[in-house]
Amino acid sequence: MYDVRLDGVSKAFGEVEAVRNVSLAVDAGNFLSLLGPSGCGKTTLLRMLAGFVRPGRGEVYIRNQMVNDVPPFRRNVGMVFQNYALFPHLTVAENVGYGLVARKISRPERERRVEEALSLVHLTNFDGRYPRQLSGGQQQRVALARAIVIRPAVLLLDEPLGSLDRKLRERMQVEVRQLQRTLGITTIFVTHDQEEALSMSDLVGVMNGGRLEQLGTPAEIYERPATTFVADFVGTSNRLDGTVVGLDGEESLVQVAGTRQHLRIPQRTGDAPGVPVSIMVRPEYVELTARGGPGDDAPLFGEVRFSAYLGASVRYEVELGEGASLVSLRPRGIDGGGYARGDRVGVRIAPECFYRLAGEPRNRAGAAAGVESDGAIPDSFANGPVGEAGSDEGGSGVGESRRSGGLVPRIGDEPA
Ligand code: ATP
Repeated sequence: MYDVRLDGVSKAFGEVEAVRNVSLAVDAGNFLSLLGPSGCGKTTLLRMLAGFVRPGRGEVYIRNQMVNDVPPFRRNVGMVFQNYALFPHLTVAENVGYGLVARKISRPERERRVEEALSLVHLTNFDGRYPRQLSGGQQQRVALARAIVIRPAVLLLDEPLGSLDRKLRERMQVEVRQLQRTLGITTIFVTHDQEEALSMSDLVGVMNGGRLEQLGTPAEIYERPATTFVADFVGTSNRLDGTVVGLDGEESLVQVAGTRQHLRIPQRTGDAPGVPVSIMVRPEYVELTARGGPGDDAPLFGEVRFSAYLGASVRYEVELGEGASLVSLRPRGIDGGGYARGDRVGVRIAPECFYRLAGEPRNRAGAAAGVESDGAIPDSFANGPVGEAGSDEGGSGVGESRRSGGLVPRIGDEPA
């Protein structure tokens, strides 16, 4: 059962199209994060749910009721703002009980519910303090208590943790999620912090320029991004542009643009020789091997341009050729002493870890120019049908990945 549903909702402020034709539904008890860069329309969407902004087009439903014309205080939603918006002249208990007074709840019932809400946010005994006598984290908890005390159908949180320091923010992420689970309350959380969105949510909606680019579970968003924007915005994405130069059963052979190196990837719908493709692989799947050592049979190779010690892991940037590079994240200690700038390394990626992105390759001209037949294409790939170059619209990019195992890893040759 849906608690929240948006049907084709749009909102423009003058020339600015803040939200464009967004449709989504959130099941009862689910936690949805709206994620996206500054100005992408997250807050406007949230404010349309709260009733502070009226949609220009489309319909907003809360628990099956169309609420476009229902004012905020009749919508049964609790909202927490980024700046908390506590009343400075009211005590903690008065702040939390404010919504109950407005709803004409009797005094004894009010006191009971305020006490219960303060206990849920671990602020029992803070009831007589004023906001100025509280830390930022405590003020945030008061704002949360004030939102949940009215037992709303939906909890709306607008970057509520934005102004907290990192440690406190992480603790509050856990607390908010625990509270949400305890109460089973449908929650929509706005953030521009991708880690926060991935770690807290049942569902993540990624927004860009007023549009909802993708709605999915954190794993779907991270591992199978629907668009190049999502791939770039969520996590570090390694994107390789290239051209299909051969097909072999379940695999395509892709020449990496700017290099003379080739990769085997599980074939995706729409690929044909000559078609430019963009492939994404997350840094944790990019394995490096020492050149010239045992196991030096990696399909790609390059030069370490940069290494950064991150404590638990080391981040390497490896240049494969002109304009083509990969970021590799290696757990510290896995690669012995690690690699230094200038080291030549082999690069290996399990085929099932590649994800073909829908949409235009970033450098279509470069990708096409990358096709130079240098005799390095294995025979099994050389006799595939010749397709029309330039058509890249075949796949949606979602849910199409076909797995294949037992691949021969070494293809390709040294860069010129
Ligand atoms: P941030 O993360 O910076 O808060 P956001 O994703 O929440 O950004 P919105 O606040 O929804 O983005 O703004 C979306 C666009 O609409 C922006 O270009 C913003 O300037 C514009 N906008 C928002 N509210 C108004 C308003 N009341 N009047 C005019 N323009 C507005």
